[in-house]
Amino acid sequence: MSVKKDPDQTDTDSNLTRHLLESLERAGKRRTAQRSAICEILASHAGHPTASDVYNEVRRTFPMISQATVYNTIDTLRELGLIARLDIANHDHTHYEIDTRPHVNVVCRYCENIADVQTDSVDVLFRHAAENSGFAIDRDGGVIVYGVCPDCVQRLADAPTDAERPRTLHGAEAG
Ligand SMILES: [Zn+2]
Ligand SMILES: [Zn+2]
Repeated sequence: MSVKKDPDQTDTDSNLTRHLLESLERAGKRRTAQRSAICEILASHAGHPTASDVYNEVRRTFPMISQATVYNTIDTLRELGLIARLDIANHDHTHYEIDTRPHVNVVCRYCENIADVQTDSVDVLFRHAAENSGFAIDRDGGVIVYGVCPDCVQRLADAPTDAERPRTLHGAEAG
């Protein structure tokens, strides 16, 4: 699935593309047309792509690109802290965060929908969790909250049989 940002984002996206490429170069990865395309796809992606999303997208321009080139580039960017892993329960593939500021990921249980919510309270939450547990908190990917997205709420409410409706909707329906 490819999600594009609105056109006003173009400048921000190309700045980010440049930043990713320069960081790769400093890490010893030569700037190639393929790596530029990978960085461009990541920078302009408004969602949480998987490595195979990026691979499928870059193949439209570079049909011969190897999967290893895409996966290695993504790995290096992650090691450099420029993108973050987002592992979601029941999703087969790891998603990647392009926006590494701590935020809440609201994940739909019924579809692939993941919404980002920016809030300062994530910092507070991480601090409390660290202080009260003594753990070194892994900030990668921020906070993950599960629920049912508005589209699925609608779709499931329209479902003909009760069995297709999630338990969580039954309460809302009664009111
Ligand atoms: Zn959904
Ligand atoms: Zn996110």
